[in-house]
Amino acid sequence: MFDKFKEECAVMGVYGHPESANLVYLGLYALQHRGQESSGIVSSDGKVLISHRQMGLVADIFKEEVIKRLEGFSAIGHNRYSTSGQSHVKNAQPFVVEYALGPIAVSHNGNLVNAGVLREGLEASGSIFQSTSDTEVIIHLIATSKERTLMGRIVEALSRVRGAYSLLFVTLDRMIAARDPMGFRPLVLGRLKRGKDRGAYVVSSETCALDLIEAEYLREVEPGEIITFGPDGMQSLKPFPPAPHAKCIFEYIYFSRPDSNLYGRNVYQVRKELGRQLARESAVAADLVTPVPDSGVPAAIGYAEQSRLPLEFGLIRNHYVGRTFIEPQQSIRHFGVKIKLNAQREVLNGKRVVVVDDSIVRGTTSRKIIRMLRDAGAKEVHLRISSPPTSGPCYYGIDTPTRSELIASSNSVEEIRRFIEADSLAYLSREGMYVFLDGKTQGFCDACFSGNYPVHFDDEGHTHQLHLFEALQQR
Ligand code: AMP
Repeated sequence: MFDKFKEECAVMGVYGHPESANLVYLGLYALQHRGQESSGIVSSDGKVLISHRQMGLVADIFKEEVIKRLEGFSAIGHNRYSTSGQSHVKNAQPFVVEYALGPIAVSHNGNLVNAGVLREGLEASGSIFQSTSDTEVIIHLIATSKERTLMGRIVEALSRVRGAYSLLFVTLDRMIAARDPMGFRPLVLGRLKRGKDRGAYVVSSETCALDLIEAEYLREVEPGEIITFGPDGMQSLKPFPPAPHAKCIFEYIYFSRPDSNLYGRNVYQVRKELGRQLARESAVAADLVTPVPDSGVPAAIGYAEQSRLPLEFGLIRNHYVGRTFIEPQQSIRHFGVKIKLNAQREVLNGKRVVVVDDSIVRGTTSRKIIRMLRDAGAKEVHLRISSPPTSGPCYYGIDTPTRSELIASSNSVEEIRRFIEADSLAYLSREGMYVFLDGKTQGFCDACFSGNYPVHFDDEGHTHQLHLFEALQQR
């Protein structure tokens, strides 16, 4: 029924600017890496909410005439990507509904783990759902709440949902940001700093979106915080009991843009440090280090620095690759990867190569890359991964395949090495992953590596018991 647990998303919102939709569009552009399937913006001009949602990339969707139509002083937007779920515009966000207090729209990044149960209850009492996304549950909970004020309804709705949410709402006169008490997904607050723009607030999944529109970073929206932006300025509320934090470590490893600052640290610097630690843990005699671009680049720089080996780009990436290709009938070897990456013989021929990437999911890409490196003359290929083995799926908003498809869920490092045909393979240790935090593991969710799920969820996507805080407290 729900496909949301395979979704990756970005949210972006601006309050208090005459061209808010244009700024949201730019922010979504900077956040395209978080979702490439559909996009949408909803703006408010104080009288009505104006919506545009469409399948495709941000740059293709928001043409000048579309942005012009999205008039108003406040707007929220969303990018979505889903592999296994329904790829349909009805699941594109922001969702807009009309309820007793007027129209409201919502953008959601994250995944609710009890959406199925809540939806059954809501449908039994007459709610009619338009999508297969769990986000709609939040909207229905708000619409059916008996609380008098919007804030009362939002607090009540959010107190009933479990799991990960970084949310933005827009109403006729307000924008509201909310982050779940465990803080699974990032959400940052900024303010426009130039001339007459001063005063407009910006909320975004990542700081790279603030940079593009020259907004000043103020702080994170804190876990458990609800911020209202309205005619009387900004108001913060923390209505829920404090919970142990479970910020996603995979945002550091792979998902966030390296130029973003996340949970107080620059992602690029963190990745470099992970690469250095990887070199300390698993050095190997070699002639050069080469990254799998783009995901492995910062870690490869750190690895090369630490191991005092030259860094070379043995693989070059085509940045204009779309998602579907027409394959020639006489199939070319490694076609899927070859269209994206090309190995350089001039760099690799006769060399012992350390190739660095951030993670292995199914192992199929890594296997093709290693074959390509050998075809280009590499004498030895040593794969180094700047995270521990990905052994479990994510239920909180990162698109990972089911457990059985994750090669590390049922194979040892040696078995994976044989499958990908590397001369050697080493992952970063779990302790090593926290080296940039001086070994402090508290406050992060690393369930995809450790199996410690802070909020429980099984492989079919149904909620078991909700051990909401137990798992983290036992650590
Ligand atoms: P494979 O060898 O087929 O498992 O592919 C590994 C590649 O997938 C690595 O280069 C990762 O950077 C990349 N990767 C890891 N997680 C994700 C994700 N959630 N979405 C897309 N690519 C990912």
